[in-house]
Amino acid sequence: MSVIPVANGWKHILAEVVEEASKLPAEWCFEISMAERVDGALKLSATYVSGDVPLDDHLPPERKLPHPWRSLQRIRETAREKSLATCECCGRPGKLVDAGEHARVRCVRHEYVVDAVEWSRDPVGFMFESAEEAMAHFLADYGDGIDMMKELQETQASANEDVDDADETRH
Ligand SMILES: [Zn+2]
Repeated sequence: MSVIPVANGWKHILAEVVEEASKLPAEWCFEISMAERVDGALKLSATYVSGDVPLDDHLPPERKLPHPWRSLQRIRETAREKSLATCECCGRPGKLVDAGEHARVRCVRHEYVVDAVEWSRDPVGFMFESAEEAMAHFLADYGDGIDMMKELQETQASANEDVDDADETRH
C-alpha cells in the first residue's frame, strides 16, 4: 500500500479502514489510494477491480452480488462519520469548526490549528500533548525504582542478619 498522509488524530481511522479493506475478496485488489479532507471530513478513495460484476442496484438487497463499489461507499461513509467526531490533530472527540475551505474537525484544544497534517509534522506544544504518556512512562520507571529499593532493603536486611549471626557466633 502506498503511504497516505493523514494527520495524527485520524491515523487510527485510516488503519481501521485498511484492516476492513483487507477482508474484502482478494480478486477485487481493493486498495485505499487516497485520503483527502473534504468539507472538514475525511474522504477516502480506493482502487479496485470490479471485473464483470454488475452493479445490480435494481435488484432487491438479498439478490445483489457483492460489489467493490458498494464496499467503498460503505467504508468511505464509516470513515467520514468517524472523522467528523474525531479531532484531526490528536484523535480526541472533536466537532466541525469553521466552514468552507477551513472547515475542520477539532477538539477544544486544537480549534486554532488550521492545517492538521502540517501540525502533526511539527506539533506545537507536543510535549504538553504527550505529558500523560510521559507520566505513564515515568510511573513505570518509578515503579521499577520502588521494587529495586525494596530488593535493596531486603538484601541489606539479610546482610545485617548475617552480621548479627556472625556477632552471635562470636559471643
Ligand atoms: Zn485535539
